[in-house]
Amino acid sequence: MARNIGAACRRCRRENLKLYLKGDRCYSDKCSFERRAFGPGQHGQSRFKKVSDYAIQLREKQKVKSMYGMLEGQFRRYFHKADLQKGVTGENLLVLLERRLDNTVFRLGFASSRNHARQLVRHNHIFVNDKKVNIPSFIVSVNDVITIREKSRTNSHIVESLEAIDRRGVPSWLELNKDAFSATVKTLPVREEITMPIQEQLIVELYSK
Ligand code: SF4
Repeated sequence: MARNIGAACRRCRRENLKLYLKGDRCYSDKCSFERRAFGPGQHGQSRFKKVSDYAIQLREKQKVKSMYGMLEGQFRRYFHKADLQKGVTGENLLVLLERRLDNTVFRLGFASSRNHARQLVRHNHIFVNDKKVNIPSFIVSVNDVITIREKSRTNSHIVESLEAIDRRGVPSWLELNKDAFSATVKTLPVREEITMPIQEQLIVELYSK
């Protein structure tokens, strides 16, 4: 499956926001954004940039794509799906992205980043309702039970990630049973629970041109 393999820290600096793409490193003093909080490249430190509405909308879309590790085609498909749903398109889009299995595994603390979560899913470490699911874009539903495969429960990366979950917290739409390496989707996520600084309306405006 295609994915964005560009330099992660560069993307944070480009968006002027910590996107938490590298797991534990993002919470340490090795974080590039903490050390160089200005744009990448030769003109990254230019102070007076004229920014058009289009550029603002584009950056917002790029930011969300980077957060969830998506490529343009995939992201557009999600937007199209969100647009066909009832309700507010921008909110539908964010809720759909949150419901992806890789994001859910990350939110539960089984993985230290969405990239790590995607790898766990692809490598058959994750079960949904007692069935192996190795598709990161699988959309979870209410009452789905997500578990770590029995023989992966001693995997040091998973154990360490889970130990750090208290620092991040589990969103209220999920119920985690740390000891059982298991979790249940209690409800669907709602916009208010997605606390990352996202202005989804800008993405809708961009794609509506
Ligand atoms: Fe972004 Fe994490 Fe890199 Fe910091 S360490 S710049 S938060 S990806």
